[in-house]
Amino acid sequence: MVVGDIATGTEVLVVGAGPGGYVAAIRAAQNGLDTTLVDREAYGGACLNHGCIPSKAFISATSVAHDAGNAEEMGIHADPVVDVAGMQNWKEGVVNQLTGGVEKLCKANGVNLMQGEATFADDSTARIAHGGEGQGSESIEFEHAIIATGSRPIQVPGFEFEHEQVWSSRDALATDTAPEKLVVVGAGYIGMELSTVFAKLGVDVTVVEMLDGVLPGYEDDISRVVKNRAEELGIEFNFGEAASEWREAEEGIVVTTEDEDGEESTYDADKALVAVGRHPVSESLNPEAAGVEVDENGFIETDDQARTNVDNIFAVGDVAGEPMLAHKASKEGIVAAEVIAGEPAALDHQAVPAAVFTDPEIATVGMTEAEAEDAGFTPKIGEFPMRASGRALTTGESEGFVRIVGEEEGGFILGAQIVGPEASELIAELSLAVEMGATLEDVASTIHTHPTLAEAVMEAAENADDQAIHTLNR
Ligand code: FAD
Repeated sequence: MVVGDIATGTEVLVVGAGPGGYVAAIRAAQNGLDTTLVDREAYGGACLNHGCIPSKAFISATSVAHDAGNAEEMGIHADPVVDVAGMQNWKEGVVNQLTGGVEKLCKANGVNLMQGEATFADDSTARIAHGGEGQGSESIEFEHAIIATGSRPIQVPGFEFEHEQVWSSRDALATDTAPEKLVVVGAGYIGMELSTVFAKLGVDVTVVEMLDGVLPGYEDDISRVVKNRAEELGIEFNFGEAASEWREAEEGIVVTTEDEDGEESTYDADKALVAVGRHPVSESLNPEAAGVEVDENGFIETDDQARTNVDNIFAVGDVAGEPMLAHKASKEGIVAAEVIAGEPAALDHQAVPAAVFTDPEIATVGMTEAEAEDAGFTPKIGEFPMRASGRALTTGESEGFVRIVGEEEGGFILGAQIVGPEASELIAELSLAVEMGATLEDVASTIHTHPTLAEAVMEAAENADDQAIHTLNR
């Protein structure tokens, strides 16, 4: 049955139910606004369905297997057998629990949920095309709209995703078999996280990267720790090479790369996983019809209240620009919802933390030493190596360090970089420190539980003032 063109109205229309959109919708509803959340796919967006959560589930599961099989030093002798289909089932269970939770939370907060693809007709009307034959479409009038349409993986020319032999990160995270040989194109954070997953499954992983190192944007002494560990896991790196084409071979595929002199190399594999970054999704919404400006890279520019150039339309998350991170999307979603509700909200955070869930993890917040200098500060650095942490040694993972960047005059913490076990958790304390304008002394004089990895944060703060106890001060 064709449903036809039913017209409805809402105070706030949120397009996209990822961590930007669903969080915005819940906060708008909490603030008493009649709110409709529409998504053409699944609640939770990329983050819950094929990004943060599935990748972290795979990272945890493959680490359990790998660690159990490599713990002879601890007196443990095991040879775990990994059933990738079973791992996939478990991951799906985690995803379903979380996406179901998003749906329940939205409903419980009074958000109207709608399945379908939204397209702007003008700055107060959108058409929602419901998926599937005979499902029809409807128009919805809105007072305010929040665009939270996210991003999709960038395609490399010649490597269009055909989902069988050329994988996107989404395909890799949906597999229930492990290839024998995998070529990963791109050594950014997604490429590195997934290379580690497959290496820990025993897959022969080769990474090709156009640049001359892994994890561009991170300081050399940080990315080096991750690269060294990746090589220990058997990952082979080929830098300065761009993937140019692939073809089917008798068995599997052959990936060809080219260096800057035009010299070609070839790699045999079963699959190629392309992870070279993400592109904002804005065009399908037809933002022009509402007068919303999109820049040449597809991003929608916003001000510090997440407002676009059109007064009643906001944009949050990946589509609103870098950094493309789930927690940044959620924060922007909250600000947009509060501004619409008439609250004095603004994006005034001092720094956005970021984490890479490689082995070991990386986490950063605020400024590096070089950035602090460029900004006119005299940086005061404190460091603590993980190998001096009792807790790190008891976990068998003692690579890496904590670095805190303070400023000489008042001792204020400007930033921090951590590479090591649980870096993604440890950064929370330093994110709070940056946000609150805490000093090195504040962190150094806070009693930290023993034995914990967090003591490394305290000792790094002490080290900045030559007061660390468990490492030699500089
Ligand atoms: P999305 O989560 O992309 O959601 C957008 C939603 O909009 C989608 O559900 C889509 O179906 C819907 N949509 C689009 N257009 C329309 C339309 N016209 N009509 C209706 N619906 C529409 N970030 C982290 O912070 N930490 C991590 O560890 C991390 N790991 C990642 C691992 C991988 C493999 C990937 C791919 C990403 C990872 N990210 C991580 C990034 C994170 O997933 C994104 O930053 C986050 O999902 C962005 O949220 P969003 O709400 O902006 O958009």
